Amino acid sequence: MSNLMKVQDGCVVSMDYTLHVDGELVDTSSGRAPLEFLQGAGNIIPGLEDELYEMAVGESKKVVVAPVDGYGEFDSEAVVEVPREEFPPEIPLEVGVELQVTDESGNPMLARITAVTDDLVVLDFNHPLAGKELHFDVKIVGLRDATDEEMEHGHAHDEEHHH
Ligand code: ZN
Repeated sequence: MSNLMKVQDGCVVSMDYTLHVDGELVDTSSGRAPLEFLQGAGNIIPGLEDELYEMAVGESKKVVVAPVDGYGEFDSEAVVEVPREEFPPEIPLEVGVELQVTDESGNPMLARITAVTDDLVVLDFNHPLAGKELHFDVKIVGLRDATDEEMEHGHAHDEEHHH
């Protein structure tokens, strides 16, 4: 590994980060291993990946990502009302509960309960961070060339996980 190496497609990047949304900390690598990913492979959200090119180990940056380059705009059509009786009795019908449901083609989708009335349950299929501006603080802590296998798979491997 060279100290002159900079982030480019085909490198495995190790990065410390924090993510703030609406002034609140929602995610951080602090206290655990840095995030490792293959640059240029869409492993992380595009608005963040685009801002990392040419950064060197030890460099830090603040990156603000608009919803369209993050988790998407909030889609009001992805919020649906379902009659309460359609839910099996074992499911707790409370605001904040996450449910895995299947669409008409049998694909699993994640939904959150955002409201419950006497008759209806409101399910939100948007990503929890949809429509949000994302405020990242990132620091590059490691860079190396991806292996042929990693390039083939389109993601980074670590010591313990070969997948
Ligand atoms: Zn793999």
